[in-house]
Amino acid sequence: MAEELSLYRRWRPKRFAEVVGQELVVATLKRAVAQGKLHHAYLFAGQRGVGKTTLARLLARAVNCLAPEDGEPCNRCPNCVRILSGQSLDVVEIDGASHRGIDQVRQLREEVAFLPAGARYKVYIIDEVHMLTQEAFNALLKTLEEPPPHVLFIFATTEPHKVPPTVLSRCQAFWLQPIPEELIAARVREIAQAEGFALGPGAAEALARRSGGSLRDALVLLEQLGRTGPLTPARLEAYLGLPAQEQIDRFLDALVARDADAALALVEELARRGQDLALFAEELLGRARDRVVAGEAALWPFLGALLALRAELPRAFSRRLRLELFVLEHCGLPKNPKPHEPRGEASPSPAPPPGEEEPEPSLPDAEPPSPGPAAAGPEAERWAELVRAAWEARADLGVFLAPAQGTYADGILRLTLPEGYRYHYEALKDKEVRAALEEVARRFFDPLLAVEIAYAGNTGPKPLSLEEAARLLAEKLEGEIISSP
Ligand SMILES: [Zn+2]
Repeated sequence: MAEELSLYRRWRPKRFAEVVGQELVVATLKRAVAQGKLHHAYLFAGQRGVGKTTLARLLARAVNCLAPEDGEPCNRCPNCVRILSGQSLDVVEIDGASHRGIDQVRQLREEVAFLPAGARYKVYIIDEVHMLTQEAFNALLKTLEEPPPHVLFIFATTEPHKVPPTVLSRCQAFWLQPIPEELIAARVREIAQAEGFALGPGAAEALARRSGGSLRDALVLLEQLGRTGPLTPARLEAYLGLPAQEQIDRFLDALVARDADAALALVEELARRGQDLALFAEELLGRARDRVVAGEAALWPFLGALLALRAELPRAFSRRLRLELFVLEHCGLPKNPKPHEPRGEASPSPAPPPGEEEPEPSLPDAEPPSPGPAAAGPEAERWAELVRAAWEARADLGVFLAPAQGTYADGILRLTLPEGYRYHYEALKDKEVRAALEEVARRFFDPLLAVEIAYAGNTGPKPLSLEEAARLLAEKLEGEIISSP
């Protein structure tokens, strides 16, 4: 077949010395081969792409090589050549994932009785061995209990905890660690140069960071992107749907500078682009860690909070709101009205300069908002009190409710969210938020038969701007901030 081998397969190490990472495992295996002190069964456990199968094949050649050099296979003798070309009858690879049936193991049990056809050892490599059925394991165990001296088993698994202890206990097991980023980056550079792929500045490092310790993943990405043009961090980010490094750095810079405006604008920008904010939080943490390690002490106090943010965001009712609250918690209030807020012509009260010990600006507007029906009166009073109570009951409910107008008639409370507050409207329709709302509303309106929520263009009085809502919320949260730097 003329099918082109993938980069990963073509660059698969042919000698132990070429294996990236895993030095301890490699040293142990080489020594065992060189001294002829082999176990009957080996198990390589570890995440994908760290070299389990590569090591298994290397070991299969090394034990059968006619002229091994210090435990390394020569890759030239007839045995090595046959195994390398996949034509050896003495090295059998079984994919546990696709051969879960017992037949293969039964066949294996019949075969192991025979001596190798031309090699010293008959080697059975069983990949993803944890996928074998219980029955297959039982059959395998019988062979493992009394292994013929010419048989070598090599198991590989990503999930060693699913391998029965009876099998595990008969193997020499190696736990392969994820490959360090710098080693992956070095290998990527080496292969890119040999293959004629152009790498932009920082591209190898970015690739290594995205590969999660898997050299295979890194090389697959290199192949996919390197063939179509110079590989840059930006292309990689776009390909993987990640936020741009520039955005991540901008957010972290804003955090350090306590610049709520810049950070909120960025959140807006990300949300508008449909960027996955949970992924963004993940990237933030990784990048912050890198920058701290590189000596940026100012980011150090944020690591704990970023860690919590990353954990919380995927479960957050609204990821955007959660991220905005994070900004407010750590940066204080925005200084300028957000241009994207259609109703934001309200004069925002200036925030205290970051980091200064000035007292909070006067607190008259620290009172919860008093939006409400156009007419004053007992009903308006009650509505305003309800909003206040909502703040007390649940801060986010207060945020969602603040811009709404409420009217009550015939047992029905009607809420209208003005234009520009579609998000708040959607939030209020959430089952949990709505239940909290009804619970609070029941204290003010009796009978309360139903709460109707509508979204409409604003024709009434100006609702609370998001800045005001945010400020109120920040004040409300202040006593609860656990990890403010
Ligand atoms: Zn050889």
